[in-house]
Amino acid sequence: MKRMPPIQKNDMLELPIQGLTADGQGVGRMGSYAVFVKGALPGEVVRAHTIKANSSYGVAKLVQVLKPSPDRVSPRCPAYARCGGCSLQHLSYEAQLRAKTEQVRDALARLGGFSEIQVQPALGMEEPWAYRNKGSFPVALGEEGLQIGFFAPHSHRLVPLESCYIQDPGVMAAALAIRDWAREWQVPPYDEERHTGILRHAMARASQQGVLAVVVTTGPLPHKEALVEKLRRAVPGLVGIVHNRNRAASNVILGKEYETIWGSGRLQVRLCGLDFSVSPASFLQVNPRQTQRLYEKALDMLALRGGETVLDVYCGIGTISLLLARHAGHVTGVENVPEAVEDARMNARNNGIENVDFICAPAEEALPGLVEARGPLDAILLDPPRKGCDPAALQAILKSGAPRLVYVSCDPATLARDCRILAQGGYLPRFVQPVDMFPHTAHVETVVLLGREFEKSREHVYLDYEPSKEIDLPGGATYSEIKQWIQAEYGLKVSSLYVAQVKQKHGIVERECYNKPKSENAKQPKCPPEKEAAIEAALKHFKMI
Ligand code: SAH
Repeated sequence: MKRMPPIQKNDMLELPIQGLTADGQGVGRMGSYAVFVKGALPGEVVRAHTIKANSSYGVAKLVQVLKPSPDRVSPRCPAYARCGGCSLQHLSYEAQLRAKTEQVRDALARLGGFSEIQVQPALGMEEPWAYRNKGSFPVALGEEGLQIGFFAPHSHRLVPLESCYIQDPGVMAAALAIRDWAREWQVPPYDEERHTGILRHAMARASQQGVLAVVVTTGPLPHKEALVEKLRRAVPGLVGIVHNRNRAASNVILGKEYETIWGSGRLQVRLCGLDFSVSPASFLQVNPRQTQRLYEKALDMLALRGGETVLDVYCGIGTISLLLARHAGHVTGVENVPEAVEDARMNARNNGIENVDFICAPAEEALPGLVEARGPLDAILLDPPRKGCDPAALQAILKSGAPRLVYVSCDPATLARDCRILAQGGYLPRFVQPVDMFPHTAHVETVVLLGREFEKSREHVYLDYEPSKEIDLPGGATYSEIKQWIQAEYGLKVSSLYVAQVKQKHGIVERECYNKPKSENAKQPKCPPEKEAAIEAALKHFKMI
């Protein structure tokens, strides 16, 4: 029998808010009936207009905050109310971290059955802005012509953007340059419904090396020279421009055809003291500062001594594999995107790391054979996409007998589900550390250490693990981070050229455009000694030297 909802459509509610959903909406409860109110925060009392009243839950639109939360802040971004990119800008950063810790605890308790496990406070960023090293912007026709932006929540309606506080400025500059080129040359935006038009996405990725721009179109690229010219003028440190052609009538961003139309088709990224080359199709964590901390945690949890045999499952371009290989006997990476596996192999060669191999296959197909072929295994690292691990992959891991697992997850719900399956097979979570990779959004990354329990009883026993304080990998701050630090500490302005010169002096590989004179004879200004000292101090501060 259908339950009668306690509210009806169009009711005006006065509602106390108790919780926050995994996508950042406020939740008010009327007995066991939940009402979701976007923009409302726990601890608040709000007036809200009911727009949906199902038998199991309701949705209401925030009209007025009657009693605000002490954690409520003004969102920094003017497009925040409309854009689907961020969902927690109205919550103070400290409270966002608490909410994320709670989200992980709640998922592990409710969906995993681990109600007693302690979850460490989420590791936050010191400066939680301008952190995203990649942006993919859809395009659409607006009042002022072609626009780039993000989609509104749960829709394909474009919210035009001129700036974005969470993006790296280089990414934004490239995307806007692609937009301006399209406006100037009247390149029509792609229309998803009619499958007409040309420009689909403006994309860019940034690193210490510079910016790689990717322009995605349905057909041949028109006005190519003008695009190259526009991007080169607008984007300092542009490394390359790639044209990707996507003819598919789907919302997948990248197609199969790539052509480098200027400069390099790949981007160099320095992470944890290693150099990685990334192609546009490969996955790379989007927050470099926090990635370093996440990887440090994972490495610490694995407690490698040097001779171990390790699997890195869902390895992407081999970032974690190479890091682990420096501390282990042998590492095998498993990844199903061929471009990423090619990148991984190249990265191993470029870093002179020989004790790794990479297998290009879906984990669920490769693992059953691999745990036998590579066994006995000492440790397995898992870093699956949001949907978590396939049951066949988990079963193979259970059979492996590896004493330690480290599970890196970007979705607490699938993490909890998979941990439950692993616990049934004898692996219990021992340490849970959320890391905030995505400030101002409701997403949270978690790294979990699981250990094999010799079952003494049916009770869950959580073994202790003491995080080590010593682990501290070499860092990789961006140019703007270095410059900002020097400005704050020394009150000095330094140019990227000077930073590049000092980095090069210390053997840090540099982007061509900053450190090479245009011609061999061209004179470049030399970094004065006081600035050099400040830059060296910054490089030490960021643990790059
Ligand atoms: N560990 C890497 C990548 C993590 S993202 C890093 O930190 O950068 C997850 C990766 O899993 C992606 O590279 C994706 O291409 C890959 N992947 C997705 N489904 C897979 C599957 N079934 N088998 C193997 N790899 C898969």
